[in-house]
Amino acid sequence: MSDADTLRRFHFEDGRVRGLIVRIERSLAEVLGQHHYPDAVARLLGEALAATVLMGATLKFSGTLGLQAKSSGPVALLFAESSETFRIRGYARVQPGAAGVELDTLLQGGTLAITITPAQGERYQGIVPLDAAALAPCLEHYFAQSEQLPTVLRLACDGQRAAGLLLQALPLAPGADAAGAKARWEHLGALAATTRAAELLDDPFETLLFHLFHEEAVRLHEPAPVAFGCSCSRERASATLRSIGEQETRAVFREQGLVRIHCELCQQEYLFDGPAVDRLFETRAEDGGTFH
Ligand SMILES: [Zn+2]
Repeated sequence: MSDADTLRRFHFEDGRVRGLIVRIERSLAEVLGQHHYPDAVARLLGEALAATVLMGATLKFSGTLGLQAKSSGPVALLFAESSETFRIRGYARVQPGAAGVELDTLLQGGTLAITITPAQGERYQGIVPLDAAALAPCLEHYFAQSEQLPTVLRLACDGQRAAGLLLQALPLAPGADAAGAKARWEHLGALAATTRAAELLDDPFETLLFHLFHEEAVRLHEPAPVAFGCSCSRERASATLRSIGEQETRAVFREQGLVRIHCELCQQEYLFDGPAVDRLFETRAEDGGTFH
């Protein structure tokens, strides 16, 4: 069975450490789509997407997890997101001249925001500096800072496939043997840190986990599918135009004869002709009134 476009959870029989492994291929091709990103940018976006699936799967509630990196380097903006059902989408805004740049300098000096939007409840955002030469160590820093859970994250992308492995120590039960748990974590974390990019991208998950942890009893759970998907809609496009405002929207309409909202994430176009523009702002006039 191919492990492409799947996420699998695993745990160690003693229950103190959990793991997640993901590989995306067709879904990555759909995200990269018609963008023609330079190779290094495509690899960075692939790693970010794999990371969002892994990090989203660690949430204790249903919700969406997004990564947004901003930088004055060759990649001005990088966005990757995974929904609670592992629908992924992403986008990069690339400056001219990014083509010859390597992965470690793409986001130099930028910041990375991790946004968690629960299905119910308040949005949470954590921000970490992009001060390492790769995405994975910056995200490990986030886990150490925000969740205080020791985490090892390995990411890889060759432009066609992206993959990731996350290993995380679980919180200790009261009265547990903390020194024993720490030693155990250090052993397993050190093994996980030896994962090579080629193994992560090529090997069947079972083979990879056996290779890494062959002296351990690892239980691999059923795979969950990962697919490309965008949550944009005509309603959201309408809300965007309302937030831009009537004056500006009508000015665009007068100039172009049509108002066009283009989704960078899935290439969908939402078109608003004259009557549609009128309806947008009629609805606004009714806001707060009685809805008929
Ligand atoms: Zn879209």
